[in-house]
Amino acid sequence: MKRTYLFDIDGTLLTIKNLANRRIISGVLQHFGLTQHNIAGLDFAGRTDRCIFSSLLGHSGEEQFQLVKEVYLRELGRQLKKKDIHVFDGVMRALTHLESKKALTGLLTGNFEKAARIKLSQMNLDHYFAFGAFGDDHADRNDLPHIAFQQIAERSGGRFKPSDVVIIGDTPRDIEAAHSFGAISVAVCTGSFGRKQLEAHKPDVILSSLDEFPEWDRAA
Ligand SMILES: [Mg+2]
Repeated sequence: MKRTYLFDIDGTLLTIKNLANRRIISGVLQHFGLTQHNIAGLDFAGRTDRCIFSSLLGHSGEEQFQLVKEVYLRELGRQLKKKDIHVFDGVMRALTHLESKKALTGLLTGNFEKAARIKLSQMNLDHYFAFGAFGDDHADRNDLPHIAFQQIAERSGGRFKPSDVVIIGDTPRDIEAAHSFGAISVAVCTGSFGRKQLEAHKPDVILSSLDEFPEWDRAA
């Protein structure tokens, strides 16, 4: 079947262990004297980096946002190590399955583009994703499928419709982004949401992990 695939990163392909990402963000905020924030309880799931940082910075303005972003990306690149990242079961299986069928595969993630590439390249996963829509410019995840789809159209010569796009993610926000665009929604239970919670948002399919992805893709 003719399809193209867009993957979320955190909770779907991998997770950052030992709260390394929060430690780095905390350090960056301290660097700017923004010590009033307690980020331990902050909800990151499914939110774009722009949305997360904007809420931390309040009304500080675009210039401050860009400065903080720059330092965050520098520190992420410097501090995030392979040992801080866990790649979920079945990820390699799913990606090699898509590679072997030469499927057009990209990212749909709230991460800043550079943050996404830093995380993936640490685990040698970067090269599976030729393009993507990222959280640099958009606070709302629902804007991202349109951006990814423009790139899909350019790369495929307009071969795909929104209903040929499969959006794979671990949160209700991923499901909502797929629904809002008319794409197929694949939810995975490897993030912070359980099967029951994801079911309530009516994805097209729920997989325990990406280990089940090739079978679903062949059958569906
Ligand atoms: Mg996620």
